[in-house]
Amino acid sequence: MTADIIDGKAFAADLRNRIANRVANLKSDHGLQPGLAVVIVGENPASQIYVRNKVQQTVEAGMQSYHHELPADTSEDDLLTLISNLNADTAVHGILVQLPLPDHINDNRILNAIDPDKDADGFHPLNAGRLATGLKGLVPCTPLGCLMLLKDRLGDLTGQNAVVIGRSNIVGKPMAQLLLQQNCTVTIAHSRTRDLASVVKGADILVAAVGVANLVRGDWLKESATVIDVGMNRLPPIEEGSKPRLAGDVAFSEALEACAAITPVPGGVGPMTIACLLANTVTCAERLHGIAESTDWF
Ligand code: NAP
Repeated sequence: MTADIIDGKAFAADLRNRIANRVANLKSDHGLQPGLAVVIVGENPASQIYVRNKVQQTVEAGMQSYHHELPADTSEDDLLTLISNLNADTAVHGILVQLPLPDHINDNRILNAIDPDKDADGFHPLNAGRLATGLKGLVPCTPLGCLMLLKDRLGDLTGQNAVVIGRSNIVGKPMAQLLLQQNCTVTIAHSRTRDLASVVKGADILVAAVGVANLVRGDWLKESATVIDVGMNRLPPIEEGSKPRLAGDVAFSEALEACAAITPVPGGVGPMTIACLLANTVTCAERLHGIAESTDWF
């Protein structure tokens, strides 16, 4: 048996097309161009690549991009002032502050300062609370992308046993909430979970969001399982001078022989995250302008 490979790259490209069409309609029918402000502080090379990709894809979708690149010694107060200005700016519908921030800046103070209705990343505690209580809010992009891939493959998820490994605020917890909303029976595993292998064996759906390369082995998986691998782990290059390799949290070649379907790393969840950021920005713009929301993302 060889598992199906879930092509997140292709799904994300299709989603970006649907977003671009929606943006074109918002412009022609309502004179509205959604705008996303991206703020980066310091020169973390990985963050710079992420931000560059976000800016490029925002523009390609026909949206307005506002890019704020601040020096590493920017004070917390100056960053809070910028966020306050972006909150007040009617041309800005979504705001994203790229994490991690330098050590002298408190991440939570910054994330809490973003207007929850412009919180394109869905990290504000109000949006976490809305998700947990079933209210309409903004959902973190990575778990939203995972859910899209799962629904595209499986349709109705009711009654499925879902195991999420990882309980971070940005992936694990919101992922578990989304699966619960879809009527899955959800187990959240973490570093203190006993006998992780047997917990995973019960999963019809497995979402691994850990950050440990190849943690989940093929023989942990149920034959019928659908596996979403969120992990992005950089491994040293095989030869000196060659590129570092990316690995997921699931031993991919073993899983291919063991489960029904799996997302690759790279090319699975990663491309979905930015596409969902664009979708969230459109949603912010629609809600802020009282326009009926697009139902075209799933
Ligand atoms: P995180 O905040 O470090 O959380 C990792 C979680 O994994 C924690 O809940 C931790 O448990 C759990 N864990 C660690 N070691 C474990 C083990 N041996 N067994 C079981 N659970 C274990 O990480 P994150 O931000 O959620 O990200 C997770 C992974 O997803 C990373 O590789 C990250 O790069 C990747 N990621 C990818 C995307 C994307 O767009 N593709 C987006 C975000 C994140 P405790 O809570 O007990 O410590």
